[in-house]
Amino acid sequence: MLRLPKFEYHAPESIDDVLALLAEHPGEARLVAGGTDLLPNLKHGIEDASHVISLARVPGVSEVVELSDGSLQLGAMLSLEAVAEHELVRARYPALAQAVGLVAGPHHRRMGTLGGNVCLNTRCVYINQSHFWRESLGYCLKKDGSACHVVKKGKRCVAAASNDSAPVLSLLGAELTLVSAARGERRMLVSDFYVRDGVFNKQLESDELLTHVRVPAPPAGHHAAYAKLRPRDSIDFPRLSVAAGFRLVDGKLADLDIVVSALASSPVRLNKVTELAAGRAPDETLFEELGAAAYKQCHPLTNIDGDPAWRREMVPVYVKRALRAALERGAAR
Ligand SMILES: Cc1cc2nc3c(=O)[nH]c(=O)nc-3n(C[C@H](O)[C@H](O)[C@H](O)COP(=O)(O)OP(=O)(O)OC[C@H]3O[C@@H](n4cnc5c(N)ncnc54)[C@H](O)[C@@H]3O)c2cc1C
Ligand code: SF4
Repeated sequence: MLRLPKFEYHAPESIDDVLALLAEHPGEARLVAGGTDLLPNLKHGIEDASHVISLARVPGVSEVVELSDGSLQLGAMLSLEAVAEHELVRARYPALAQAVGLVAGPHHRRMGTLGGNVCLNTRCVYINQSHFWRESLGYCLKKDGSACHVVKKGKRCVAAASNDSAPVLSLLGAELTLVSAARGERRMLVSDFYVRDGVFNKQLESDELLTHVRVPAPPAGHHAAYAKLRPRDSIDFPRLSVAAGFRLVDGKLADLDIVVSALASSPVRLNKVTELAAGRAPDETLFEELGAAAYKQCHPLTNIDGDPAWRREMVPVYVKRALRAALERGAAR
C-alpha cells in the first residue's frame, strides 16, 4: 500500500490565514483542495511537502456569483461537479460545463475542484510512476534527475498540460484572481497563465492562492465546444483536447479560435485559423481546411500514452468534432 509521507497538516479558516501559512513556509508548503492529484503525487514522491494546507474550511471561495458586467465569478473551491451542473454555467458556457464534466470519473469530480484543475501538475509517462520505477530509470529533469526521456538531450521538461478546464477557460477569455500576503491581489488571463515548462507550467508563485476564476459574458452569437480524446469514456486524462469557438454573424464566422492541449506543457492557441475562417460559411470544406491547419501546427510527443503519430492523425478529427459541436449549439439557439 502506498503511504503518504510525513507532513504537518493545517486547516485554516480564512484566506488571510492561508496566505500567512504560505508566507511562513516558503517553498515547503502545498495547498490541498480536493486532493485528487496532490495526494497521489505525494505518495509517489513526485511532489514533496513538509506542510500541507487544506482549503476545505476557507469561506468565500465556493460560490458562483453573477457580476454586474455579466461575467460569472467561480470560486476556486467549487467542485467540478458543481461547475458542470450549475444552471448559469450550462446556459452561458456549455463548453466549460462539458469540459469539467469530462474530467476523470464522478467521484473525482465530486472531490476535485476548479482551482485544483486549473493548477493541476503536468503529466508524463516517465514521471507518473512509482518512486521505485523512476529510480530504476535514473529519474528525470522534472524531479531528482538530469535527463529527459522524451526529448533525448532536451534541456526542458515537456510534460503535458492535462487539465480539461484550461483550453476552454483560455478560449473563453477567463481571468484568474491570485492573492498573496506580500503583494496582495493580481489578475491574469488564463491564456497568459501557463508557460512552456513541464516542471512547473504556471505563473503561480509559491506564496500565492488562486481564489476565483472570472469568465466574461460571451459575445452575442458566440458558440463553443470541447472535444477530448481518451482511451475510455471515463476516468482517463486527455490524450488530446480541443476547445473551439466562434461568433456566427448572419451565417458567417467571426473571431474563430481553437485552443489545443494535452500535447505540450501549456495549452496552445492555433495560429492563422481566425483569418482563415473570417467571413466564411461554417461548412465542411472550411472545417477540413481548419483541421489541416491544426495538423500542421500540432506535434504530439511520447510524453503521454498513445502513439504520437496516431494522436497527430486525431488532431484534425477532433478539431472538426469540436467545430461541428459548436455549430450545432448555434443551430439549437
Ligand atoms: C484516476 C484519475 C483520473 C483523472 N482524470 C483527469 C482528467 O481526465 N482530466 C483532468 O483535468 N484531471 C484529471 N484528474 C486529476 C484531478 O482529479 C483533477 O484535475 C481535479 O480537478 C484536481 O482538483 P483537486 O481539487 O483534487 O486538486 P488537488 O489535488 O487538491 O490540487 C492539485 C494542485 O493544485 C494546487 N491547488 C489546488 N487548489 C489551489 C488553489 N486554489 N490555489 C493554488 N493552487 C491550488 C495544489 O497545490 C496542487 O498542486 C484525474 C485524477 C485521477 C486520480
Ligand atoms: S518530459 Fe522529460 S523531464 Fe519531463 S517528466 Fe517527462 S521524461 Fe521527465
